[in-house]
Amino acid sequence: MRRKPDLKLLLLTAIAFAIISGTALRADEHPPGVSASESLRMLLEGNQRFISGKMTHPDQTTARRVELVRGQHPFAAILACSDSRTAPEILFDRGLGDIFVARVAGNVADQVVIESLDYAVKHLGVRLMMILGHRRCGAVTAAVIGHDEPGDVGPMLSELRPAVEASKGEPGDPVENAIRENVKLVVTKLADSPELSAMVKSRELKVVGGIYDLDSGKIEMLP
Ligand SMILES: [Zn+2]
Repeated sequence: MRRKPDLKLLLLTAIAFAIISGTALRADEHPPGVSASESLRMLLEGNQRFISGKMTHPDQTTARRVELVRGQHPFAAILACSDSRTAPEILFDRGLGDIFVARVAGNVADQVVIESLDYAVKHLGVRLMMILGHRRCGAVTAAVIGHDEPGDVGPMLSELRPAVEASKGEPGDPVENAIRENVKLVVTKLADSPELSAMVKSRELKVVGGIYDLDSGKIEMLP
């Protein structure tokens, strides 16, 4: 005769596991579900569907909406530009509850953006963060054009100035160069931030950079 499972024993085992793993989860926290490499694979596969016009529009049903009422478990966090042509859910062919997104002109990371993305990592279990710049970015173009003009340029252009400065004099198109440099600098800023650096060092979190090409629809990953 099969014995019924001992509930007390199961409970004790669960508590012991939580203690051993050092992570007694808070009510609004979730264990990481998807690894960084799996997350990146899912994003790039979705982008491939988008490029070829074979979107499957996953997780956009009424059932998905209802399922998410209880909570969210996004598998990636993305910082993208506010540009209306660069919505990550569309470029990566995903749906509700899949991607935790922060969008701001020029995909720069001020403290509010850093804290927003930090929430996805610490409380929602996200293990991959992507900084997504895009070609023909108006914000970066404005920063390049106005770079040598004197006076206060405001917080957004100020955030873009280091990228314009760092890419100055590089061969090729100055706007394209500044767009790439900006993504690299924002990746470094987030990876080195007091909020996230420990998890990046311990390889619990990966921060990557990509550039979206409006013409081809392709996301190019930066090395
Ligand atoms: Zn832009």
